[in-house]
Amino acid sequence: MLILVANCGSSSAKYELLNVEKETVLARGVVERIGTNLSSIKHEVKSKDIFWKRKMNCPDHHRAIELIRDIITDPEEGVIASVSEVMGVGHRVVHGGEKFHESTLLDEEVIKGIAAVSDLAPLHNPPALEGIKGCMNIFDKVPQVAVFDTAFHHSIPEYAYFYGIPYDFYTRYGIRKYGFHGTSHRYVSMKAAEILNKPLSSVNLITAHLGNGCSICAVQGGKSIETSMGFTPLDGLLMGTRCGEMDPAVVTFLMQHEDMSVDEVNAIMNKRSGLLGVSGVSNDMRDIMKAMYEGNVQAKLAYDMFIYRLKKYVGSYAAVLGGHVDAVVFTAGIGENVPDIKDQVERDLKPLLNGGTKFLMIHTNEELLIAQDTYKIISALNK
Ligand code: AMP
Repeated sequence: MLILVANCGSSSAKYELLNVEKETVLARGVVERIGTNLSSIKHEVKSKDIFWKRKMNCPDHHRAIELIRDIITDPEEGVIASVSEVMGVGHRVVHGGEKFHESTLLDEEVIKGIAAVSDLAPLHNPPALEGIKGCMNIFDKVPQVAVFDTAFHHSIPEYAYFYGIPYDFYTRYGIRKYGFHGTSHRYVSMKAAEILNKPLSSVNLITAHLGNGCSICAVQGGKSIETSMGFTPLDGLLMGTRCGEMDPAVVTFLMQHEDMSVDEVNAIMNKRSGLLGVSGVSNDMRDIMKAMYEGNVQAKLAYDMFIYRLKKYVGSYAAVLGGHVDAVVFTAGIGENVPDIKDQVERDLKPLLNGGTKFLMIHTNEELLIAQDTYKIISALNK
């Protein structure tokens, strides 16, 4: 069964067309810089040795979905003869608020539910909704499914997701920890259980998604019980351009002393901090490591902070898991490609953990899990 996976961000629309049973990707790509005069589309079909990027006029996400449809059905460049071969569309939706605990078949009610929590993810949910509406028009004969980044973390207990601010702010605005990267944490948890050759329901895991955005999760019996991102994806580990955990008083101090607006201080914490802000070199771990080996002291500081904080979270999540950890999993761009980081965490923490803890690097595949969830929901409809 062919499933199209759509991942619409503020100025981009990524797509992957997968054969779910075979777990293979037929085509993938991205429409970038939507809404500017620099918009372009990248398209890749490995089986045909096709890989290109072309400028295309793309004013909005609806047009982006049309471009994707045209390219995957193109007789020369595409992989299918008509849209009728696509049996369903799975959409990545960043925020499901408190309402959505699992992947959900999309209808008008669900769309309203996603729109209702757009305040919590103003950069992410509105473009996802645009993509959903575009797909509902263009792939109008097939079911559409929303897969939420937050859903996996619904099992976190109340005492762990509450913040120590007046309760009223929770009831009025839903201010609490939600957690993100849930699809990735869920996927690598399943893979880790396979590697350990144990049922997922019986393993304790700590999964570290270390990409441009970074988060860590304590997973008990396949359920998230704690994670480092919070109300937004800003909290926790040091990231490419995000500061992660920090005394919140820094925000008000900066606003007072630098006369900064809300937008300015938000831009600093989200876009000019993390590895980039500390090193002054780059948000990219490859550049940080190169500069560090060349003797750049700020790059070394950023690298040391990255590892220190990672170790601190792994240690505290081991405590959250009652001291028994079957495996610590490293995934995403940094987690999958920098064995030095895994090795250092392993060397420093292994003596503190129970003897049998494994340290694993596992490739994440959020698109495959989105496609599999979509397939399951569609299959249940047809029964
Ligand atoms: P992601 O968001 O998962 O695409 O990950 C992006 C991060 O992964 C960036 O910091 C990259 O520098 C890092 N990354 C990707 N490939 C490598 C690599 N081969 N070595 C070191 N870092 C890498």
